Amino acid sequence: MPVDPERHSRQMRFAPLGAAGQARLAAAGVAVVGCGALGSVVAMALTRAGVGRLRIIDRDVPERSNLPRQVLFDEADVAAGIPKAVAAAGHLERIDSSCRIEPVVADLTAASAARLLGGVDLIVDGTDNFEARFLVNEFACRAGIPWVHGGAIGAEGRVLAVLPGRTACLRCLVPEPPAPGALPTCETAGIIGPAALVVGAVEAAEAIKILVGALDRVGNRLLVCDLWENLWRCVDLAPLAAAGCPTCRQGDYPWLEGRAGGGATPLCGRDAVQVAAPPGAAVDLAAFAARMAACGRVTANPWIVRVALEGGIELAVFADGRAIVSGTRDEARARGLVARWLGA
Ligand SMILES: [Zn+2]
Repeated sequence: MPVDPERHSRQMRFAPLGAAGQARLAAAGVAVVGCGALGSVVAMALTRAGVGRLRIIDRDVPERSNLPRQVLFDEADVAAGIPKAVAAAGHLERIDSSCRIEPVVADLTAASAARLLGGVDLIVDGTDNFEARFLVNEFACRAGIPWVHGGAIGAEGRVLAVLPGRTACLRCLVPEPPAPGALPTCETAGIIGPAALVVGAVEAAEAIKILVGALDRVGNRLLVCDLWENLWRCVDLAPLAAAGCPTCRQGDYPWLEGRAGGGATPLCGRDAVQVAAPPGAAVDLAAFAARMAACGRVTANPWIVRVALEGGIELAVFADGRAIVSGTRDEARARGLVARWLGA
C-alpha cells in the first residue's frame, strides 16, 4: 500500500525508521497467529504502524472473559458471536482502511501450516499453546521466515524474536514442549491485562525492527518481565544457538511432519475442549444446523453452528470440521460428543 506521509509523520521522524523504513512497512505482509490478548495488541499496533498486509488467524469466538485484555473486541462482538478473526478485521479496517486485512477462521495444524503461514515476510505469535508455537517455529525455520514469540501469564511475560539460521529458535530454548497440564495457564494462574499489553507491544516493536531491516537490534535475547515485581531482564541465548538445535540447525520438523501433536486440546482459560478435524474435512453448516434443530437450541452464522445440548454442554462446529465442546474439560468425553453428533 502507498505510504501516507502525514499519517505516519511522527513515526518516520524517528531516525532509525525514517521514510525508507516506512516504505518497507507498507510493502510488508505479516501473519498474526492467534488473535487473543497478545494477537489483538500486535495486530492493532502493526495496523497503526502502517504495515501493508495483515493476515489474522484465529480459531475461536470472543467471550466476556476476554474483554479485560483482548483490546480489539467489545461487548457487541461477544453478543454477535462472530469469530475473532472476522471481528478483528472489522475493527482494524476502521483503524486504517488502506491496510489489507485477511481474516482466517482456522486452526493452525500441520496440515494447514503452509496455507496459513506462507506468503508473508514475518509471523507473530499470539497463540496460547505450545503445539501452535512449535508448528510456527518449524514452519518459520524451514521457510527462513523470521518470527516473534510472545507469552504472558499472571503478571509475567516473555518475548523472543527468531531469525532462522542467525539466532536461537524456540526449540533451542524449549527442547521439548511441556506436557499438557505441566505449566500454569491463564486458566489456572490468571492474567492481568497489562501483562498482555506489554508483551504484545514488545512483540510489535520486534516485528517493526525486523520489517524495516534493523536486524542488528533483534534476536538472541529472551526478554523476561514480571510486572508485579517490576523485574525486567534479558537472557543471552547465543550459547543455546551454538548448541546444534535439531530444528534450526539440523532441519528436524516433527510437528510440521505430523510426528508430534494433534487430537483434542483443552482451550486455555476455558471450560472447553477443541476437537481437531480430520484432514481435508469440511462441514455443510446449513445442513448440520437443520439436522441438529431437533436435538437442542441451534444458533448459526456463516462461520459457526452452535448447539446447546442437555447437561450444559455446547457444541460449536466450524466449517473446516473443527468442533469446540464447552462445558467439559474431559478430552475423551469431548471427542465422544463430537463423534456422536458430528460423526467425525
Ligand atoms: Zn533452534
